[in-house]
Amino acid sequence: MGRQFFVGGNFKMNGTIKSITDIVKNISEADLDPNTEVVIAPPSLYLLVTREHLRKEIEVAAQNVFDKPNGAFTGEISAEQLTDSGIGWTLTGHSERRVILGEQDDFIANKTKTALESGLGVILCVGETLEQRESNKTLEVVTTQLKAVADLTKDWSKVVVAYEPVWAIGTGKVATTEQAQEVHASVRKWLAANISQEASEKTRIIYGGSVSEKNCRELAKQSDIDGFLVGGASLKPAFVDIINARA
Ligand code: PGA
Repeated sequence: MGRQFFVGGNFKMNGTIKSITDIVKNISEADLDPNTEVVIAPPSLYLLVTREHLRKEIEVAAQNVFDKPNGAFTGEISAEQLTDSGIGWTLTGHSERRVILGEQDDFIANKTKTALESGLGVILCVGETLEQRESNKTLEVVTTQLKAVADLTKDWSKVVVAYEPVWAIGTGKVATTEQAQEVHASVRKWLAANISQEASEKTRIIYGGSVSEKNCRELAKQSDIDGFLVGGASLKPAFVDIINARA
């Protein structure tokens, strides 16, 4: 289908200058599948040290961005500051920000729009809680989260959608290949109906939630799974095996 495989490493609020430098050097020196696009998202304090030690073809992502231009917003980082610092990507809508920090769909959509307009690529995270899955609301939740962004922008050429069921994040409980493929296929259909046929064909839809070197190969075989967003395992040497899941 011609979609480049995409693997993101989300370090979350983990690491020190030393450990992050070590991890990043390891990734930089590893034998990586040249067909996989790799993006590393360290905590904001370590964005620059990550950029400094990564080989050039690997991109760096912020884990979060603010929805307004530079100004009096204590504690926030703007899209403009990210691009100025050589950071090419940002995550938006990670479930830890939705659930723990209370970020709502419209705020996430505004951030996504601002980031895209500043030239950043965006890994837009969506996903349902266990309760929502058990009450058959998975697609409703995911498409509502996507629609908030679609209402603000139809240019999805720099968007990667990360489907991350909340119940699978950091729990060791990975979605089955069937569960993941089913949602990914539905997201692709939704993109065709709500953005464009082109967006449906070209947008990478990646899976996140307890991805490991053990389960990545089976998941990577699914026709609508175009890569992964990896949390815990991205801090380990096994991350290289996940990057190489299709090699
Ligand atoms: P996990 O996290 O791989 O540790 O489950 C994934 C994520 O939150 O992006």
